[in-house]
Amino acid sequence: MKKLKTLTALTLALAYVAAPLALSAEDKKEAAKTYPLTTCVVSGEKLGEMGDPYVFKHEGKEVKLCCKSCLKKFNADPAKYLKKIEEAEKAAKK
Ligand SMILES: [Zn+2]
Repeated sequence: MKKLKTLTALTLALAYVAAPLALSAEDKKEAAKTYPLTTCVVSGEKLGEMGDPYVFKHEGKEVKLCCKSCLKKFNADPAKYLKKIEEAEKAAKK
């Protein structure tokens, strides 16, 4: 039965890896609530001040910008802006 156990473990591992890709509506709401920043990572403007924030996903990570024109700057150096979000997330967890 050793083979079956291995297969089960593999299936579980795959399910775990695949899970974040399938976001339910509830998960999305949760993600919106837990977004750590109230400002645009590109311009530093307050989100929502210039109309609805521009929200999108970059490699599975939620990003909020104050407006669509910040997207160009974001795409020029995504790693730099993602780092800001990650740092804010870490700070928020403390
Ligand atoms: Zn903007």
